[in-house]
Amino acid sequence: MRDITAPESFRWRRFVDVFEHTVGLAGYDLVIPPLLEDIGVFTRLGEATDVVTKEMYDFVDKGERHVALRPEQTASICRSFVEHRPTTPFKAWYAGPNFRYEKPQRGRYRQFDQVGIEVLGSLDPYIDIEVIQLGWTFFAALGLCDVELAINSLGTPDDRSRYVAALHDYFESRYSDLSPESQQTLLRNPLRVLDSKRSQDAPVIAEAPLINSYWCSEAAEHFEVVCEGLDAVGVPYTLDLKLVRGLDYYRGTTFEYRGGTLDSAQNALGGGGRYDGLVADLGGPDTPGVGFAIGLDRTLLACDDENVFAAPSQNADVFVVDVGDGSDALSVCTELRAGGIRAERSWDQRSMKAQMKAANRSGARFAVLIGESEREAGTALIRDLRSDEEQLSVTRADLPGTLISRLSSL
Ligand code: AMP
Repeated sequence: MRDITAPESFRWRRFVDVFEHTVGLAGYDLVIPPLLEDIGVFTRLGEATDVVTKEMYDFVDKGERHVALRPEQTASICRSFVEHRPTTPFKAWYAGPNFRYEKPQRGRYRQFDQVGIEVLGSLDPYIDIEVIQLGWTFFAALGLCDVELAINSLGTPDDRSRYVAALHDYFESRYSDLSPESQQTLLRNPLRVLDSKRSQDAPVIAEAPLINSYWCSEAAEHFEVVCEGLDAVGVPYTLDLKLVRGLDYYRGTTFEYRGGTLDSAQNALGGGGRYDGLVADLGGPDTPGVGFAIGLDRTLLACDDENVFAAPSQNADVFVVDVGDGSDALSVCTELRAGGIRAERSWDQRSMKAQMKAANRSGARFAVLIGESEREAGTALIRDLRSDEEQLSVTRADLPGTLISRLSSL
């Protein structure tokens, strides 16, 4: 777990702002779920999921309740939906930290942030298209270019079960060729063997059966509409028939956004898909869902690699130099801030020279100087810190207006 300090912390805020703007244009509402939930909310994600079985931060609280820090937010949004029963389709977005007890490394942390959307209550394939397109639009809004979208369909629950059985039989027949880790995975979830990046598993995976042979006509038609829709709106994708998502509840359309500059083991910037059954498992009516989660930490690493989405400048606009007792700096800063100007000052009645040094270091464009004579005359001097032009004397009443117009004409 890490501290996020300035200027990176400002970049995190801006990231969420861009996301809010992108999904806000499509009518998604913000939901802020709690960090802590009853553990049952997450165990429903599936016993074959590492996130649940190995990585959860769970404990018994003082009221003897078994709770967990959320490892993801889809389950929390579904739990919230069941509790509040909003009208459907319900379109929600979220942002915030999740916790997983993983092996920390570049792009993988024990506390990490995600932004995401969920749509509950519609089977329409055009919702899948909207969701996938919004993720794509968001990456573009950040300025990221090297992103690949991979899509697949896991079919109906029945298609998926038949496929899992076929995969199980196939991997059993090649058991001795698999890595010891994948032999273990096979016992828990044959689909996850397809995720293995180990070279020993590659030739076995290459010959594994593919899901498209198990799609029923309904699943195939749904997926065709999704692909055609993405073509129509110009969102490029590659079909990856071996793309399976980690969580057990995924059905139908699944997708992943991959960062081209990142190591292949950690290159998923985000992903999502359709899920059924989760809302019903949490005590609600049978409600289909589709959504995605995008990892903030990893996406910012990709932004660094592409030199885009830099931290926003936090420079002051104005630095107030008060050679008196500091009370003029108090009133001038108050007036300037009320007028929307970022104003800073120094403390401890430092010398004029030390204050000018601080003014230059602050990155401010203008210094406001108030010496003895300005104080007596009720005036202030404005000095442009990035040009040699003559400093300007203005009355204190004119000071905010003059600075606002100078700053806005830059
Ligand atoms: P998931 O919820 O596992 O589907 O992950 C969605 C996205 O969240 C991933 O593509 C990553 O960008 C991010 N993510 C998941 N786990 C971590 C982690 N431990 N550290 C950083 N980012 C993560």
